[in-house]
Amino acid sequence: MSGEFFRNKWLFFESYVKVVIDGRMLIYNTLTGEMLENDHPEIIRYFTEVTSNFSEPLFSLSNEAFIDEQLLLPFIEALFSLHMIEVIPKSDQGERPFVFIPEIKINKDFLRGKEVLFTGEDCYEYLHQLNINLVRKLPANNESQRLGRCQHIFFDSFGDSSVALPPTLLRNVVPELKNTNLREISVVLNPIDGHPDLGEIMDVLGGIDAAKRFILDCDDAFRNGEIVRDLGKEMPSSFTVIIPMWQKSRHSGNKIEHLAKSLGERLEVLLFIEGEGDLPRADDILSQVEGLRVNCLPIFNGKNLQFFEDNVFLRKENIFSKVHSFNDIFCNETLNRSAFGRLYIDADGECCGELGRGTLGNIINHNLGQIIYKELCEGESWKRTRKTVSPCSRCIYNLFCPPISNYELVMNRMNLCHMHDEWNQC
Ligand code: SF4
Repeated sequence: MSGEFFRNKWLFFESYVKVVIDGRMLIYNTLTGEMLENDHPEIIRYFTEVTSNFSEPLFSLSNEAFIDEQLLLPFIEALFSLHMIEVIPKSDQGERPFVFIPEIKINKDFLRGKEVLFTGEDCYEYLHQLNINLVRKLPANNESQRLGRCQHIFFDSFGDSSVALPPTLLRNVVPELKNTNLREISVVLNPIDGHPDLGEIMDVLGGIDAAKRFILDCDDAFRNGEIVRDLGKEMPSSFTVIIPMWQKSRHSGNKIEHLAKSLGERLEVLLFIEGEGDLPRADDILSQVEGLRVNCLPIFNGKNLQFFEDNVFLRKENIFSKVHSFNDIFCNETLNRSAFGRLYIDADGECCGELGRGTLGNIINHNLGQIIYKELCEGESWKRTRKTVSPCSRCIYNLFCPPISNYELVMNRMNLCHMHDEWNQC
């Protein structure tokens, strides 16, 4: 195909193509996952110009007066061969064709926050997961953040042992939950025998229409096997038992096997891993207990950056291992998919959208609707995207990367990736 093919034609990007320009340029086909990148300043200047006016999607080679044709045409040809741009012949009369521009919008525009009036039950619909910490208020210190922020609130000998969530507070919330899209309640119970009104709490939980999951400490679960079995009998629920693999004395294949016998498929073991040294012990558990559901979660302890670099940091092939649809990209641009719709209720009734962050209110003084509303309008957790945090905000992959993870928040480093190295090698 010669450059002549594109002369006297209108060009425009197909509606399924996403163009990202920020120092470098990425043009991505959301149907096939094919992409073209370019970092030539002239090419970037050209496409910055032709894509700058969203309501004028048409461009033509006449825009290229300021760019070397030998540079531009091969790139235009490559885009055309990947079905990323379309061409329309120019009419003799010079009229501009009409091109529809797709636009995705969230049905209730929470992004505008206070300008939007959430009426009645509207904001309840966003809630789909509740995490409840039944015993001991979590202190906002570094240790709790290190372990606690890793989704599973937890789990050592810290916290205020005099606090237990009153069943009446939980009961007050139940009528409101009927308006939500609640799918799961995760209940942290540590210690297992630490709540004075556990029976009543179980009654309240039993009346809520959502899957229940208890999160337990391994030592505690081994010690209180009978209570755990009773919890399992009282209501359909699953159990996640957390095992910090670096604490050798706290786990053994025999004890886990015993628990697995009484809970069967409802037991999942979550292994906290800090380094390579923990891996053989994880292997031992896997080989000792047949059929056990096991997940591993790397934990950052401030000293194991190398372990994270080797095992957790993202590479480009990880980011683009799947096709990102327009909806995926829109979500990544708008909200944090791993945090959105989740609330945490601490043992004293304080609520937050993310552990270790400021409170949104307290279920003693506020109803759940007010708390969700506050997170939607003022909170950061549900809306923290890579576009809003440095250095990801200047990276052309920020709409394609997974949502900001707990590791990144704990480490206060939002770019756990090898991208910088990879670019330097280009
Ligand atoms: S810098 Fe941020 S957005 Fe870019 S690849 Fe790394 S994690 Fe993703």
